[in-house]
Amino acid sequence: MQEPPKIQVGSFTIAFLTDGLWRNDGGCMFGVVPRELWKREHPPDDLNRIRLNLTCPLILNGRDAILVDTGIGNRLSAVERKIFDHGEGWLPDHLRALGMEPGDVTHVILSHLHFDHCGGLVRRRESGTFEPAFPRARLFIQRGELETARDTRNERLRAAYRHMQEILATVEGSFEAVEGDLEVVAGVTAVVTGGHTYDHQVAIVRDGRHCFVHLADIVPTRSHMRGPWNQAYDLDALRTMEQKAAYLQRAAQKGWWVSFAHDDQVFTAKVANDRGRLVLGESVAVGPMRSQDAPRQR
Ligand SMILES: [Zn+2]
Repeated sequence: MQEPPKIQVGSFTIAFLTDGLWRNDGGCMFGVVPRELWKREHPPDDLNRIRLNLTCPLILNGRDAILVDTGIGNRLSAVERKIFDHGEGWLPDHLRALGMEPGDVTHVILSHLHFDHCGGLVRRRESGTFEPAFPRARLFIQRGELETARDTRNERLRAAYRHMQEILATVEGSFEAVEGDLEVVAGVTAVVTGGHTYDHQVAIVRDGRHCFVHLADIVPTRSHMRGPWNQAYDLDALRTMEQKAAYLQRAAQKGWWVSFAHDDQVFTAKVANDRGRLVLGESVAVGPMRSQDAPRQR
């Protein structure tokens, strides 16, 4: 297991953990963008699935360990694991490669509660029952997101949160429902964006002029830096566009690091302005994570 790459943001160290590679339908990931355009950067397999990452930045300040999102985890059934081509055990292994244990994580900021961001909150034991994956962590989520996930009569939303029952049954007591932006620890803030879900939030780390923002599903891959390239899942794509334009422009002007939830090539990058187009500048590439990238069974 390779040690996760790190960047320094002022006095904070940020390690780029991932819950591994997986695949999802390319059409769902790019919404109104024709396949002919996205397939060059994201070659689809014969099931039209593209390769994606599950990036979970871990923010370290010498005392706290703040994880942003948790990936898919090991809760999927064998059939679902095949559909999404996802193996298990990645995130715990990456923590171990840093010399840390799940019990060392003190806070988790959840961008939203779709299964590929919060599934890793729980761990399926061999017996089939669930336990909290990060037993000491406080879990920060927007109250609106939690309420929608817990109880919605809308058919589409209900489907998007159908995994929540077993997650709530296991960790509900650890959730801290937040209304609006919250400084989780000094210098680390969860900021509401909306867009992808109505209460989607991003994580911002700031120390003086140094800044990092994990944009989660506002910019899920490097290709989504383009204004109109948005996911079919977005509940309010126009809001996603506004938010990403604002963050990426600020990042380009001020030399911020940004990271994305699902890019399979780049963990984090600075943003450059190339004659009016926002493109990747200095970046930290996703290297080989495990030999042959194969999911490991445990
Ligand atoms: Zn996602």
